[in-house]
Amino acid sequence: MGAKAEPNMTEDAESRAYRLMLTQVTIEKLNDLVIWLDEAGRYVFVNPATTRLLGYTAEELTRLHVWDVDPLFDEARWRQHWAEVVERKSFTLETVNRSKAGVDITIEVSSNFVEYEGRRFNCAIVRDITERHRLDKELRDLNETIYRLSITDSLTGLANRRHFDAVLAQETERHGRSGAPLSLVLLDLDAFKALNDLYGHVVGDDALRIIAATLQGTMHRASITARYGGEEFVCILPETSHAEALDCAEATRAAIAALAVPHTGSPVADHVTASFGVATTETGAMRTVDLLRAADDALYRAKNLGRNRVVGRETP
Ligand code: GH3
Ligand code: MG
Ligand code: MG
Repeated sequence: MGAKAEPNMTEDAESRAYRLMLTQVTIEKLNDLVIWLDEAGRYVFVNPATTRLLGYTAEELTRLHVWDVDPLFDEARWRQHWAEVVERKSFTLETVNRSKAGVDITIEVSSNFVEYEGRRFNCAIVRDITERHRLDKELRDLNETIYRLSITDSLTGLANRRHFDAVLAQETERHGRSGAPLSLVLLDLDAFKALNDLYGHVVGDDALRIIAATLQGTMHRASITARYGGEEFVCILPETSHAEALDCAEATRAAIAALAVPHTGSPVADHVTASFGVATTETGAMRTVDLLRAADDALYRAKNLGRNRVVGRETP
């Protein structure tokens, strides 16, 4: 066997140079910002993406501190940040950079602690996340809208049955624990089929809307006022005794009658009226279904007694 071949110095040097060149091109072509800050928070080095995004020249930046560009930073905050970089070596944060033209850009910063030739730096890789933020916000807004729609009755804007069911479950649970009285007011418009037959559905819809608005005005105590079904509404009155709930219902009955929405086809009055059933669990211990059934029974009796009235439980 011959002697071991000498390492090819030329090739190694070439590959080193090639690697260096690739590193340099990467930094220069990168869309992310590469920013070196010294311990004092001064810009030491920036890549072309930085000058492109911020509108400052590299030369201008070397005369600035990070808090001149980041409106969320001041010198004290920088010192905190520096301590954290030294301590944690590498971490990510979101902040804002203000371009030379005064435009605020939301950025994600990966801060890295680098020691080089005895000097210490914060080498940051920065990404413009304005668009991502905008999309996130759009998505959050959209989710909120979808949620709101899912719990709202589209005709009246009141809570819908689904939302009512969820709130009633919460309220009975809460009152069961506290032992406070919980009341339910169920109301159904009188002779509403006749109203539609006589005046048409559009007028019927208008009546439902105006009555829904009236309910919201009179049922101050309600934790929720919902459209329970076609021309039926329901209110949950937390921490409300039976006597107080009867008063609330009576005030609402009077307010609906006072609207004087014409209804010549009603056997009750010459305007739209409503019948009310009120149920209460004084100790908060009644089951949801029983409370609902009690209110429904009371409403049924209000209808049978001639409508346009409030009926509570049979025995006080
Ligand atoms: P009662 O006094 O016994 O409650 O009689 P009623 O006619 O109100 O009761 P019924 O249950 O027979 O009829 C309810 C009517 O409510 C029938 C339906 O046309 C009307 N209705 C339900 N939902 C809507 C709606 O969204 N818009 C309109 N315009 N009418 C509705
Ligand atoms: Mg009905
Ligand atoms: Mg009805």
